[in-house]
Formats: sequence, structure tokens, C-alpha cells
Amino acid sequence: MSKLHIDLVNWYNQNKRNLAFRLNQDPYRVWISEIMAQQTQIDTLIPYYERWMHQYPILSDLFVAEEEDLYRLWEGLGYYSRVRNIQKAALQIKNEYASIFPNTKDAIQTLPGIGDYTAAAIASICFNEKQAAIDGNVKRVMSRLFLWDETILRKEFNKQIKNKIETWMNDVNPGDLTQALMELGALICTKQAKCEHCPLKPHCLALQNNVVDAYPKAAKQLTKQTEQIDVVLLINKNNEFALTLDHSDSLMQGYYRLPSLKQVNITDAKKDGTLRHVFSHKIWEVNFYIAKVKQNHDFKLVNYDESLKLPIITLHRKWLKQKSSLIQSQNTF
Ligand code: SF4
Repeated sequence: MSKLHIDLVNWYNQNKRNLAFRLNQDPYRVWISEIMAQQTQIDTLIPYYERWMHQYPILSDLFVAEEEDLYRLWEGLGYYSRVRNIQKAALQIKNEYASIFPNTKDAIQTLPGIGDYTAAAIASICFNEKQAAIDGNVKRVMSRLFLWDETILRKEFNKQIKNKIETWMNDVNPGDLTQALMELGALICTKQAKCEHCPLKPHCLALQNNVVDAYPKAAKQLTKQTEQIDVVLLINKNNEFALTLDHSDSLMQGYYRLPSLKQVNITDAKKDGTLRHVFSHKIWEVNFYIAKVKQNHDFKLVNYDESLKLPIITLHRKWLKQKSSLIQSQNTF
């Protein structure tokens, strides 16, 4: 039988998708794509990625980028600490690495927002370093191939995967193997595995034992807490509404939002609707209210068109879009 990892890399080289961030091995391009891909599906991130690369085609463009422009480009991708860390990391590269992207996993991992997985992915894809990049997709593939059970192996599970992949990297190009595992996990060995199309069928213990659906065995998920949030569209007779830059929530720092009901101290606000956002660890249930401005306040006032140029948190933007005609109508009140 041929070797598993060689079959995998051959399959990848013949079947890989023609994705914008695979144009070359520029670490800047790979870095941005990897950060965008955290918590985001590839199909969703592609237009964001293309807009970003159009505006900031090379790393040094980020050294002078306006924070607000970066946030606006990122709006809708969520997990906004990622974009803040991109800017911090770019400045660190400028100051500590003479504006050249570092070329080892250890050095890459010193940059803000880059953890073990992303550093290994960049080091292997861009610099051919033998480093296994292990994310949820790769864990799923490996646990099925070898019937490794994370609930029993715990810490050993990652170590076993890392050792196996890095041994394979002695025979094949590390960057190709990293991307082949990612691609197999994204396209074929998905939650509902498409084993009939898999190049690793002859090697796969889960398939041979007819237990594909039972792997990976995951620890019990914690129940997500739901957080109720009340916000208000505080609008004046010129069709301008209030926005605030609230720094209290680190997740959304740098993004404008509608003020909370608590902040405005208004009792006659009218409830208009609710939107939900499900995060990996919690659920937001945001209740939207509408009220007219009755007193002076310190909020930023904008009309609808002006709001389009500002970075605004996604759920609030979604609701504002739904209400755009009402906001712009001369007869709001
Ligand atoms: Fe995954 Fe099926 Fe391929 Fe095994 S044969 S690696 S379960 S897709």
C-alpha cells in the first residue's frame, strides 16, 4: 500500500481549490487569511480578504493604516480583537524585525494574536519549517484515521498528532502537507464525512471499522449562557442618531454601537425588535428600542449615510440596515 501522507499530498496537489490566499507564499497574505479564517468559513472570508488585499496589498501598508479604516474593513467578521492584534503585530514587525516578517515558528509566535496553530501554519506554508498546525479540522481527520480518542488521551492526543504529522514532513513538503490536511478537513473529512471521495480510504481505521460518525469523541459541551442587552436608537428631528464608542467590552473595542438603555436614562423608549448572535461561548440577545432625543448628551450624532463609513458592531449594523428607511424618513416622529 502506498504511504498515507504521500497519497494525501498528491490528492491536494491535484484537487486544491484556487483560493486568493494561495496565490503565493507571502507570509503577510497567509497570516491575514489565517487570522480571518479563525471562527469564519472560507466562503465568508473570501470577499473580506480580497477587499483587504486590495486596500493593503503589502505588509508595510499596515504600518500607516488608520485604525478606523481597518475596523471598517473587518466589520462583519466579528471577534474584533483579531484586527486590533493585526495592527499591533504589524508595528512589532516594523520595530523589532526591521519590517520583515519573521521566518521561524518561535519568532512568529511572539506576535500579538498569533498562537501555536497560526504560527505553525505560517512557518510550514511560507518557510517550509517542519511544524504541525493542529486545529479542529486536523484533529477530526487524525482521530478518524487512527481511532485516537481525545477524551481518553487528553494532552497526549495533541502530542501524538504533532509527532505523526512532523514525521510525515520528513518525506513531503511541510507546507503542502499542512494545506492538504486543512483541505481534506474542510472538503472531505467534514462532520458528515464524504468518505466515498476520500483519498485516504485505504488507510482509514474509522472507515474500516464503520465508526466514522463516532469520531472525534469530544468532551461534553458546556451550555451557553444567554446575555440580554437593551440598546436604543436615539434619534433627533434631523434624522441623526446617537452612537457611542464604548470601551467597557474588550471584545468590541474600537467599534461604534447604539447606546444601551441604561446609559440614556429614558423611560418611554419603544421596543422594536430583537436579534440574536451566537458566539462559541455565549449568546447575545439584543433588544432594540427607539426613542427621540429630549436632552443634551455626549454621544456622537450621525445620519444614516455617515454611519455607513464608521465601524459599527455587526448586530447593530444589521438592525440599522433593516431600519434605514425609517431612520432617513422625514417623518420618523
Ligand atoms: Fe475521513 Fe472518511 Fe477519509 Fe476516513 S475515509 S479520513 S473518515 S473522509
